[in-house]
Amino acid sequence: MAIERTLSIIKPDAVAKNVIGQIVARFEGAGLKVAAAKLVHLSRAEAEQFYAVHAARPFFKDLVDFMVSGPVFIQVLEGEGAIQKNRDLMGATDPKKAAPGTIRADFAESIDANAVHGSDAPETAAVEVSFFFPGMNVYAR
Ligand code: GDP
Repeated sequence: MAIERTLSIIKPDAVAKNVIGQIVARFEGAGLKVAAAKLVHLSRAEAEQFYAVHAARPFFKDLVDFMVSGPVFIQVLEGEGAIQKNRDLMGATDPKKAAPGTIRADFAESIDANAVHGSDAPETAAVEVSFFFPGMNVYAR
C-alpha cells in the first residue's frame, strides 16, 4: 500500500478538553507520522471555504459556528494507507454510532462536536492539505 498524506483536524471541542496529545498518540500508535502541524483559530471565511462542499446542507451554519468557536489543531498525517487508516481511527461521524475504541467514541459528544476531521479520499486529501499547508506535496517523498 502506498505512503499517503492526509489532513486531520482536532476540532474545538477536543482542543478545549485538552486531549490533543491523547488523540495524536492514537495516530502515532497506529503508525502514522505528523508531517506538519499548527494550532490556529479559523476565521469564518476559512471555515466556510474549507467546508464549501456542505454549503447547501441544513447543518452548514452550525458546522461553521462550531469550527470557529475555538482553536483547532491541524495536522498532515503521513503513512501507509494514511487516508483510510485515519478514517478508521476516527470512527463514524455520529459519535453515538462510532465503534468502541475509536477517537469519536472516546472523545466526542455529538455530531456537531465530534472531535476530529479527516480527509475521506485521495482527491479531498490533496485539496485539504494544500488548503492549510500551501505548497506541501500531498504524496510523501
Ligand atoms: P466526516 O467526514 O465524518 O467529518 O463527515 P462529513 O464530511 O459528512 O460532515 C462534515 C461534518 O459536518 C461532520 O464531521 C459533522 O460535524 C457535520 N455533520 C455531518 N452530518 C451532519 C448532520 O446530519 N447534522 C449535523 N448537525 N452535523 C453534521
